[in-house]
Amino acid sequence: MPDVFADLVGQDDAVDTLRRAAASAAAVLRHAAAVHAAATAGPVDDDLDALAAEAEAEDAGNPVDPGAGMTHAWIFTGPPGSGRSVAARAFAAALQCVRGTGCGECPGCHTTLAGTHADVRLVVPEGLSIGVGEMRALVLRAASTPSGGRWQVVIIEDADRLTEAAGNALLKAVEEPPPRTVFLLCAPSTHPDDISVTIRSRCRVVPLRQPSAAAVAEVLARRDGVAPDVAAWAAAAAQGHVGRARRLARDPEARQRRDAVLAVPRRLTGVGAAFDAASALIEAAEAEAAASVAEIDEAERAALQTALGAGGTGRGAAGAMRGAAGQLKDLEKRQKSRATRAQRDALDRALVDLAGFYRDAVTAALGAPVSPVHADTAALAEAGARKWHAEGALRRLEAVLECRAAIEANVKPRIAVEAMMLALWKG
Ligand SMILES: [Zn+2]
Repeated sequence: MPDVFADLVGQDDAVDTLRRAAASAAAVLRHAAAVHAAATAGPVDDDLDALAAEAEAEDAGNPVDPGAGMTHAWIFTGPPGSGRSVAARAFAAALQCVRGTGCGECPGCHTTLAGTHADVRLVVPEGLSIGVGEMRALVLRAASTPSGGRWQVVIIEDADRLTEAAGNALLKAVEEPPPRTVFLLCAPSTHPDDISVTIRSRCRVVPLRQPSAAAVAEVLARRDGVAPDVAAWAAAAAQGHVGRARRLARDPEARQRRDAVLAVPRRLTGVGAAFDAASALIEAAEAEAAASVAEIDEAERAALQTALGAGGTGRGAAGAMRGAAGQLKDLEKRQKSRATRAQRDALDRALVDLAGFYRDAVTAALGAPVSPVHADTAALAEAGARKWHAEGALRRLEAVLECRAAIEANVKPRIAVEAMMLALWKG
């Protein structure tokens, strides 16, 4: 039976760290239960006594390893798709596991992974940043006693999107953590741009690496039942991004969008074509983003209307309608913010694909003995390499990476992409 860590692809070191920390956390709980029993029970409770003895024996058997200990704040770092949030959720499940191991079978493991455990809160920023209001409310709730008797766990995905004020609210909680509260942050890196130095100094870091294509292919075949040859192709094309590999393997539309992106280098035959290619790329990203949020937008609107009792009449209905209009406006604002982020993410994926193509051209020009990122356009990349040589291919790769950096720095996407297309055409 696979345990909660089975989906962490190619992360043996991190899994080892988390398993030991979960065991240590379970020992803390056993010890607390034993102390509590000794203090309150007159006659000795044989079962708990036995448990305590077991815990002590374990402690004695394993000389205290400070690296294995439990900590109240953790940061999971790694490139996109390496499994930061998968790791954080798996660790949360192990903390809530009734066996203390993350067995994958007990109610604690199940409810945590399903997102329904009462003592696990997950923050997934939908807009471009996590605000202070949301963080304060979260910190307050996280301080309460865990209802399940184990831990209060707060998972913050994309902790690099915390506003400064939200970061400060979180820092206070991390500096003086309630005894049974654990914060799990996910961020691309521990660079000060991603996470403040003071928060970083209070956290234990679990670095995740980009999984190898072979490891990604193996999990696609084993867990998702993808045919081995398709799995191998998708894993290479996704460049170590597990979720992206799964979409490429299973979603024909994702494959079509990728094909369209990889057709760009061929289409750059002049200035007009460069601008056309820029428009096509932006519009494809918008369409992909719209498709990805449409369903959830509609479900949220329907749920809110139901909650507000749409169409109600009678006494109080007018006042209720005014309140409803405000809530609807809030929802629309949140949805707009999420749509903007979805567009950026979709465009970034396209740019990563394009960068992979020019990277293939660079390695081909240099005769480097590495397999191409995009096996299906390898011949085209080789033709480019002959025409551009290593330097020209490298300049084009840099143009794509500069475009990503510019968008990250808030340059308007269309302007950044147009500049990139012109650079790719001129070389
Ligand atoms: Zn379990």
